[in-house]
Amino acid sequence: MTRQTVDTLIVGAKIITMDEKRRILMDGVMAVKGGKIVAVGPRRDLEDAFEATETIDGRRFVVTPGFINGHVHITGDALTRGYLPDDLECSFEEKLNKWVIPRYHAHTRQDEGLSAQFTAVEMLRSGTTCFVEAGTIRYMDEVVEGLQSTGIRGRVGIWVEGTAYRREDDQAHLNRQAIDKLEAEIIQFPAGDDQLIFAWPLLVGHSTNTDEVWRAAKSIADAKGLGISAHMSPYKADPDWFLEKYGRRPIEHLADIGVLGENVSLTHVAHIDAHEQDLLAQTGTNVTLCPLASLKGAFGMGAVGRFPEMAAAGINIMLGTDGYDQDIMRLTGLMSAMHKDARHDIKIFPATEVLEMVTLNGAKALGMADEIGSLEVGKRADFVCHDTDRPEWRPLLNVVNQLIWAADGRSVHSVWVDGARVVDNYHSTLIDEEELCAKAQSAGEAIMKRTGLPPLSPWPVIE
Ligand SMILES: [Zn+2]
Repeated sequence: MTRQTVDTLIVGAKIITMDEKRRILMDGVMAVKGGKIVAVGPRRDLEDAFEATETIDGRRFVVTPGFINGHVHITGDALTRGYLPDDLECSFEEKLNKWVIPRYHAHTRQDEGLSAQFTAVEMLRSGTTCFVEAGTIRYMDEVVEGLQSTGIRGRVGIWVEGTAYRREDDQAHLNRQAIDKLEAEIIQFPAGDDQLIFAWPLLVGHSTNTDEVWRAAKSIADAKGLGISAHMSPYKADPDWFLEKYGRRPIEHLADIGVLGENVSLTHVAHIDAHEQDLLAQTGTNVTLCPLASLKGAFGMGAVGRFPEMAAAGINIMLGTDGYDQDIMRLTGLMSAMHKDARHDIKIFPATEVLEMVTLNGAKALGMADEIGSLEVGKRADFVCHDTDRPEWRPLLNVVNQLIWAADGRSVHSVWVDGARVVDNYHSTLIDEEELCAKAQSAGEAIMKRTGLPPLSPWPVIE
């Protein structure tokens, strides 16, 4: 028998395939060629079928699909996170204007590029291979360049608003400006089979986008086969605003203007009612929950959130890290635990379901269900090797439970995107991490200095 030549062969690994039957191979083989998976199955069936450029002894590893992060701020927050106390008492408006936006504006072009690169490395090192950006604050060129340097897969776009809040603003001009931005970025960073990074219409959401901007984003996405992402209803403020302006709730309004659909993802959606849930289900709209942001931001998800009902209604749920810890593995357990507790029901969102959220569900929301999200023949080779030679992985009696409830991004040993190894032996293969961390530190300090904002520590800090 002639052996098929492949690029990479992993032999003897425990493989969580996430295929249709959800097979878990305890002594598995996976073969990768030209960026795609060409075989995955039990070792006894496949061991002698391949000749590989590189053969990896997989006995130490649990292999999963690369994780998909449905909502992450890669500019604005990463280089100054940790500045704001978690108990700062002020209105949402004041928080934005006084404490958040000045930090965004103090970023240079280089800072935004570095911020994106830094966040991508942090995501890759904890097993995320693909993400949807929340929205670049200002400088797309530098952001795309920063991302491309890391080897990650992602959907990016400038953060688009449009609503005229002040009396002196020209609404027609703001609409045109917002739509121009959407059109320009799609031309500059077009989708393509070989593009790991390309643009989507990304809206700030809440009350910041007019109907004209929403409709433009939706028609661009429909015409080009792209997705849209936007924030909605983390707090009661969004429904209150829509009820006052339009006499109906946010998702009722979006449904009415025809901008919901399978290529739309709404992030947070804590404060929605049963009718809004029906509209999400009917239109196939995706939702993204950021468990840590939700809990830390006191959205009231436990009291008012409808995620168990949304899942039961067949709504596609993915997870996002938002702007804090980029280790999505830690958020899977949090997602499960916060809902079990809120509903006093341990059956809600078991480990298997939250693992689907960061793999298959993410792939579906991205319109990539045939390409990523599981380890199957013909899919792109985006996968993670988790190192079981660590205390958190032992004893290993049930790989999915261990993955969700004991392990986290610390045990991510190596990561492949599109068949290329972008993390190996706990480090980026493309970026000097020591240099990256030093740059992030000095950029963060310089940004804070430019804002003129005071240090906010309740305890004395001695220099
Ligand atoms: Zn966000």
